[in-house]
Amino acid sequence: MKWSKALIQTLRESPQDAEIESHKLLVRASLVRKVAGGLYAYLPLGMRVLKKIQQIVREEMDRAGAQETVLPIMQPAELWQTTGRWETMGPNMFKLKDRAQRDVALAPTAEEEVTDVVKGMVNSYRQLPVIVYQINWKFRDETRPRFGLMRSKEFLMKDAYSFDVDAEGLEKSYWTMYEAYTRVFARCGLKAVPVQADGGDMGDSLTHEFHVLADAGEDGIAFCPRCGYAANLEKAERQPNRRAGVECPVVGKVATPNAKTIEEISAFMGETPDKFVKTLVYVADGKPVLVCVAGDRDVNEIKLKHFLGAKTVELAPPAIVEEVTGAPVGFAGPVKPAKAVQIVADLDLEGAADVIVGANQADAHLKHVDLKRDAQVGAYADLTIVKAGDVCTRCGEKMTIKRGIEVGQVFKLGTKYSGAFKAAYKTAELKEETMLMGCYGIGISRTLQAIIEQSHDKDGIVWPASVAPYQVVIDLLDPSVPEAAAVAGKLESELEAAGVDAIVDDREERPGVKFKDADLIGFPVRVVVGMKGLANGGVEVKRRADDKSRMKVVPPASAVEAIKEMLK
Ligand code: ATP
Ligand code: MG
Repeated sequence: MKWSKALIQTLRESPQDAEIESHKLLVRASLVRKVAGGLYAYLPLGMRVLKKIQQIVREEMDRAGAQETVLPIMQPAELWQTTGRWETMGPNMFKLKDRAQRDVALAPTAEEEVTDVVKGMVNSYRQLPVIVYQINWKFRDETRPRFGLMRSKEFLMKDAYSFDVDAEGLEKSYWTMYEAYTRVFARCGLKAVPVQADGGDMGDSLTHEFHVLADAGEDGIAFCPRCGYAANLEKAERQPNRRAGVECPVVGKVATPNAKTIEEISAFMGETPDKFVKTLVYVADGKPVLVCVAGDRDVNEIKLKHFLGAKTVELAPPAIVEEVTGAPVGFAGPVKPAKAVQIVADLDLEGAADVIVGANQADAHLKHVDLKRDAQVGAYADLTIVKAGDVCTRCGEKMTIKRGIEVGQVFKLGTKYSGAFKAAYKTAELKEETMLMGCYGIGISRTLQAIIEQSHDKDGIVWPASVAPYQVVIDLLDPSVPEAAAVAGKLESELEAAGVDAIVDDREERPGVKFKDADLIGFPVRVVVGMKGLANGGVEVKRRADDKSRMKVVPPASAVEAIKEMLK
């Protein structure tokens, strides 16, 4: 490829809306252009990377025994109504009508669609297991599209679905996909770590997310440095910090004018936050619930939702708080609220005594509260978000918290979809059984950007050779001198013959401009071809990741070998 003919336009300035480095570089290096919020055009360079990632995914899916398909992006509403997700997907799903006023959705995912197709084809145990996959565009009307391709409204996903006869089969499919994911990300030059994740409305279902660790990540992940436990904070568990066995005098009321938050009240009373119980009023499926956690803790609403078995859980509006507690917001507590509602508390508080709680009365708190003696806590459960320094439930070591970008997820679905669609097969004894399913997604376009987030420096992107838009850039310093152009052209064809893709920067530009662009886009190997160098015996070859001191000068005839060595 000749640069002078290529649709490439690098930018000096970062786009206004880019908050993170990979987003800035993506645009500056001419990989994508924004069309509108959450919508991007893939330019030729970006498209090359996208295709290379797809190819890796395809090879690993095929190797794992999955079969490629493609399903319609436009999906009839009936499919979604079968599982009830036409309603529960909410505004994230793009819904539209065709000219006959039939409801359709733009695929945010495809469990319903694929289950319907497979159901229509498989009827015997002999046809199972089956794993199918597609690489196709997905649409989600995200509340906050941002970070470029990381959270966009239209994105490329590889989604695979497994169908098995029994739990043992599903287990096997699950780990086969898990292994395939490990290989996919490694081949993309990415360090992606598998972490346990929350099963959503499927509660305890086994699921792992693959995360690229980066400060820009939207998810928090708890890691145990000793035993290797790794879990998304949505799910992560810890050993509770119980403070039982404390002597507790009788309850006393304290006036706490205007002190509502734990910070304010702890400053006011001169006690550390952990001496307090924070009580929050939630509404779970329309019913108010009081939730108590230690003062230095935050409620994990996902754990709360699972524990209550509720479909929706949200903080109560002030009117409900006042009705339930009999006090303005800020003074809720578990001792005799105005309304007798369900009270749940975190495991930390089991046996807690001599703690301070809201008095369910304006400007007042209660001290010397023994929860067992004085409050009506109905149940204790793990309800909080893990913090750095919390203790691992498995080995007792202190955990750390890191940020991650979710690039993929594997998920045991069981019979959630196959049950709704009555996707059954006949056993050897001719009994009807429901198929067991798993689903497996990789965000291909998000992965592209995650690679940049993990691999860049102050000058630009540093592409791993496997996914670089071109593996080699040949900087032709004297494009108008036929002798130099001939050397560059010959090298380009020799590389092509060796299976290495190269772009020749044949623009009439100063060397400095060419070097800057090459560094910005991040081609793994740079070759400089110029008359001066040729007169001195050769071309300069250098890896993007290395500094100048590791540059080699080689005769044109041995350039291909030197380049191939550097690409290894
Ligand atoms: P998130 O929690 O980030 O919203 P998700 O868990 O809802 O993602 P999945 O349904 O698991 O996403 O989709 C599979 C993969 O698709 C994700 O692991 C992620 O890599 C990618 N993905 C999901 N939403 C987006 C998006 N809005 N933009 C780009 N990629 C996305
Ligand atoms: Mg996910």
